Amino acid sequence: MVAAVRVHKHGGPEVLTFEDVPVAAPGQGQVKIKQHACGVNYIDTYFRMGMYPSPVGMPFVAGNEGAGEVTEVGPGVTDLKVGDRVAYVVALGGYSAERLLPAERCVKLPDAITYEQAAGMMLKGMTVQYLLNRTYKVGKGTVCLIHAAAGGVGQIACQWANHLGATVIGTAGSKAKADIAKKAGAHHVILYRDEDFVAKVKEITSGKLCDVVYDGIGKDTFPASLDCLRPLGYFVSFGSASGQIEAFNINILQGKGSLFATRPTLNHYVAKREDLLATAKDLFDKVASGAVTIPINQKYALKDARKAHEDLEGRGTTGSSILIP
Ligand code: NDP
Repeated sequence: MVAAVRVHKHGGPEVLTFEDVPVAAPGQGQVKIKQHACGVNYIDTYFRMGMYPSPVGMPFVAGNEGAGEVTEVGPGVTDLKVGDRVAYVVALGGYSAERLLPAERCVKLPDAITYEQAAGMMLKGMTVQYLLNRTYKVGKGTVCLIHAAAGGVGQIACQWANHLGATVIGTAGSKAKADIAKKAGAHHVILYRDEDFVAKVKEITSGKLCDVVYDGIGKDTFPASLDCLRPLGYFVSFGSASGQIEAFNINILQGKGSLFATRPTLNHYVAKREDLLATAKDLFDKVASGAVTIPINQKYALKDARKAHEDLEGRGTTGSSILIP
């Protein structure tokens, strides 16, 4: 039996239950890992509340990301051995001291990356990698708007977009968070709880507006985010921290300038093993070179996962949060 945090019924942070769960021996193609750190992500709250269905039914172990060492190797696994340092992103099972994983979803960690860094960045950092390089190709001269710029994804995105030569406009929920977003590389920060962010984007860009908007907020920033885009601009809706965007008439995209809109998710961008490895390698390289740093600003014991969710959903966090088993 190992310590884990499970969900028996959907609901708020209070449904996260710290308890012992069994872990079997690894089966075909699987490895067992002893986790040194587990990532906390907004998507964990979507599974907890039932916005995303659990692929393993109920109850389930919460969490979608972690890092640790291989302790057992199942039949058919050739490229991992006991003692290897690995990290992963997979649906559920993350908040536990030990777990099974498909070997083909594990990424070996370079020596330069610690377990805690890995747990703070695999999901968020690989997301930023594909958002800025594949969903819309950010480069020198790109003007982008990044919502929740002081958040986990937000701070990584600001640093990376700045590194690529973009003009970065961030939004943040408080003055303190705005300062953090600026330090992370946002050239301009809008306090979107107090200011009309569309008017501010118009002012900052002298009416030219943005090439791309990265929106992980959802309901509260829609459809205003569309008004921040120049004709043929890209609306990238990658999350729903304030709730999901409701059904809308697609003709709105024509009226606002023949806009493109997409709702991407990391799973599809790293479904092929070669994409997983290439995405992770680019992230490791950016972190190892110092172009991107991973601010782990909240660290909790595994048993305190409930508090971690309360803080995240209460807009009380900045950067990444991790749990230590
Ligand atoms: P964050 O650290 O960004 O936390 C969420 C932030 O959203 C808050 O700190 C807050 O910042 C802002 N926010 C605005 N409105 C609300 C609200 N009503 N309730 C709570 N928070 C609000 O979280 P993550 O970095 O883990 O994730 C950011 C987004 O990225 C999420 O939407 C997540 O689902 C998405 N995501 C998507 C992926 C994908 O592949 N599609 C993968 C990874 C993450 P402030 O106070 O500054 O407004």
